[in-house]
Parts: sequence; C-alpha cells; structure tokens
Amino acid sequence: MNWKNIIEKAASYLNEKGVPDAETAGELLAARLLGVGRGFLVSYLEREVSPKYLDAMRRGMKRLVSGEPLQYVLGEWDFRTLTLKCDKRALIPRPETEELVTRVLNHLSQNYQTSRPVVVDVGTGTGAIILSLAAEYKKDAFFIGTDISADAIALAKENAAKLSLHDKVNLVVADGLDEFDEPESIDIIVSNPPYIESAVCPTLDARVYRHEPILALDGGASGLDFYDRYLSDALHLLKDSGAIFFEIGEGQGQAVSKLMYDYGFTDIRIEKDFSGHDRFASCRLQMP
Ligand code: GLN
Repeated sequence: MNWKNIIEKAASYLNEKGVPDAETAGELLAARLLGVGRGFLVSYLEREVSPKYLDAMRRGMKRLVSGEPLQYVLGEWDFRTLTLKCDKRALIPRPETEELVTRVLNHLSQNYQTSRPVVVDVGTGTGAIILSLAAEYKKDAFFIGTDISADAIALAKENAAKLSLHDKVNLVVADGLDEFDEPESIDIIVSNPPYIESAVCPTLDARVYRHEPILALDGGASGLDFYDRYLSDALHLLKDSGAIFFEIGEGQGQAVSKLMYDYGFTDIRIEKDFSGHDRFASCRLQMP
C-alpha cells in the first residue's frame, strides 16, 4: 500500500465515521507523521507505507473517531506565523483569535514608537496570543502571559522554548490579574477569556465540550464574568491611555460595550471577525 492509497482510505473511513473535514484530517495526519507540510505530500504519494507508519496512521484515526479534536491528535497547530504545541492542557487556538493579535499589533505600532510597553495576556492557554505578539512586534516590549492553570502555563512555556521566545515572554501561573499589585503599571491588556454561558457549555460540539478544558470556555451564568472582572481590575492597573483588547462571543457586543461604558472606559469599539460576527471589543482608560 502506498501513501496515496492510505490517504484515500483514511478519508473515506473518517468520513464514514462522521469525523468532520475527513479528507483534510487524513492528509494532515499523514503529513504530520512524515514530518512535512501538507503541500509536500505529493512527493510521497507513490511511496510504500512502512508498517510503523501504518500503525501510527491507525492510532491517529482511532483517536479522531473517538471524538478527539484533530489539533490534539496532531499535537500541534498553526497560529499566525507560529506552529504551536497543542494538547488537552489548553484551548485549541482558533482562527478568529489571530485577528485579535492583528489589532494589538496595530495598536502597538501606532502608540509605542519610543517607549517600551507592558503587555499582559490574561488566560494565555497555549501562549498563542502573547507568543505571536513577541514574535511579530519588532520593537522592545515586556510581554507577560498569565493563566490560572499550571498545566496551561507548562504548555505555554514549552511553546516559548520551542520557538526561542522564552527570553522575551514571562509566563506565570496566576488567577486573572491578581498577581499585579502595582497601580498604573500595565499598558495593554489582551484576553480571549472563557465567554460561553455555563448553561450553553454542555450543548457545545462534543469535540469541544468533552476534550477542551472547561476552565477555558465557561464564562459563568451570563458568559460575561471575566470581562467584568478584568475591566474592574484594569481601572487601577492600566496606565493613563492604556488599552484593553478582548475577544468576545458573537452575541456579546452590546453587553461588553455597556460594561466598558459603565466602568468609564473610552474609545469603545466592537468589531467583527472575518465571518461577520461581533468578535472583538476594545477600549481605553483616559484619566481625568
Ligand atoms: N471561541 C471558542 C468556542 O466557540 C470559545 C473560546 C472562549 O470561550 N474563549 O468554542
């Protein structure tokens, strides 16, 4: 059996078993085993598959059929310019979140030409946001990622080391912004916090609900708990003109902008993702 045969068989088997995007999943599994990009598979198609690879393909397919997300089975996933190690210790980095990073990068280059800003990513998970900022922002900044989960921070640190970003990013186990006690010390707070309403969590796709950490998804009864908490903390932690960038759920634009307004933030913006859903909320703190 050659790689072409096995990839075709994988696609039809996974499809039959209800695995989403079966064709892509089969190809990515093969590419991962061969240690090549998906585009390079063409050069392997006529080659025989050794028993070792055949076994590994079967193991991967079994995990997919059991309902494990593709990203965890592959053990890595691309986010912007980075390939991140990815497993059940943290939420799978999503494409919408890549756009959140764009917004922070634009803000950084427009506002911090000369000074060295302090940027904090709250609930960093795999480290996707803060590691991307550190990799892509060409000027100096202090980058800090926090997560209440020690497992997530361990994973984020593995990613930082693998990407040689460990000297640029400080990763700490902390509950929200609780470790920061110095007033007016932060320039930018960015977060993709848990924002799914508690009651909705069990209705999420089983691949999400049964495999991804609930800690990273459940935003309390209203889904807004973390926005409320971080905004309140930000009032004394942000420097004058400091900014906040949140990812939000698609139905949360109005509620999050109201929270921001009620706390007295200015420059409140709700923006849409590429699919046309409200997905980003940002604001600034203007001191009198
Ligand atoms: N966007 C994720 C989802 O829909 C949720 C991420 C989050 O709660 N921060 O599964």
